[in-house]
Amino acid sequence: MVMAVANLVGMTSAEIEAAILELGEPRYRARQIYAGVYRRLYRDWEQFTDIGKPLREKFRARFSIEYPEISQVFVSRDGTRRYLFNAGAGQRVEAVFIPEESRDTLCVSTQVGCAMGCLFCATGRLPMLRNLSAGEIAGQVLALEADRGVQAKRLNIVVMGMGEPLNNYENVMSALRLMTCGKGMSISPRRITLSTSGIVPGIERLASEPVTPNLAISLNASTDAARDRLMPVNRKWNIAALLDACRRFPLAERRRITFEYVLIGGVNDSIEDARRLVRLLGNLRHKINLIPLNADPALPFSPPAPERVEAFAKTLADNYVTASVRRPRGEDIAAACGMLAGVESVASCRK
Ligand code: SAH
Ligand code: SF4
Repeated sequence: MVMAVANLVGMTSAEIEAAILELGEPRYRARQIYAGVYRRLYRDWEQFTDIGKPLREKFRARFSIEYPEISQVFVSRDGTRRYLFNAGAGQRVEAVFIPEESRDTLCVSTQVGCAMGCLFCATGRLPMLRNLSAGEIAGQVLALEADRGVQAKRLNIVVMGMGEPLNNYENVMSALRLMTCGKGMSISPRRITLSTSGIVPGIERLASEPVTPNLAISLNASTDAARDRLMPVNRKWNIAALLDACRRFPLAERRRITFEYVLIGGVNDSIEDARRLVRLLGNLRHKINLIPLNADPALPFSPPAPERVEAFAKTLADNYVTASVRRPRGEDIAAACGMLAGVESVASCRK
């Protein structure tokens, strides 16, 4: 009988252990394999020097170590790198590596496409093709980590790539458990931020998890009328329902909910919007991330004038609201927020 070869990337330590015991090998071999794959980033059985050669061959016949296949890497003038992964059947997903002075940030995708249809987002115009598996999500981090080279800097993970993570709840949570597992990738949940368009039942479910990532909410409007138009999800769970769920979300000491607010010229960037935002979020521990729209010729919107961004941020600051303006990164390679659409036609390709 030919045994199927299982990909270790995506398997939990318990699953690897069960498979090892089934092969008649002792438990500690599973621990060696798990640490090799997830902590040491081994990708070839030759690297497992703590396992004798005959046993390595036995494992090779049974298990593979396959990262999502990188089909292209685009390198920005600012050092940002956009990775295009081949997700099979002609499907593409993306992850973005953003180097900063004190830390590196990895932005990962959770779905091929997105069903939410936000009007200002390039991913939202793609059809929703499928959910990524836990291995495909955590595998993006492994692949980018392996490519990152010197790993002296702190690493932040943002689940803000293609897709709505709370629409792929089980796989996203399994991937987060792999990322935070102390025996493997060991990324602190405090360094992981999950961004949602506002799936209220998903936020409630996340609130009941023993370990939660930081929560970011794509708010993007200060009235239901505007949000209904920009983000169809608002017609199902409006701003009041969304903020209620946020109020119930358990926040550890010194943790806050991030509200992302894409500023769109003439649509949601007025001083009145800023004032309404202050009132809406008043009794929530929060911070605001202002994101000037990354324009795309195919989108019916334009970026805000710089002075409108400034005035908006000043209104928030005058009301003692913590807000930062997100600098666009990797614009020249279509890697900035809302530009991920699995496209290949950009210059400065490395592969
Ligand atoms: N689907 C999730 C996570 C991915 S979107 C969510 O919506 O939260 C990541 C962020 O990019 C969101 O905050 C979204 O509002 C923002 N975004 C989408 N399109 C954008 C654009 N054209 N310019 C700037 N930011 C955009
Ligand atoms: Fe999907 Fe987020 Fe884009 Fe909305 S902003 S279409 S939820 S990826």
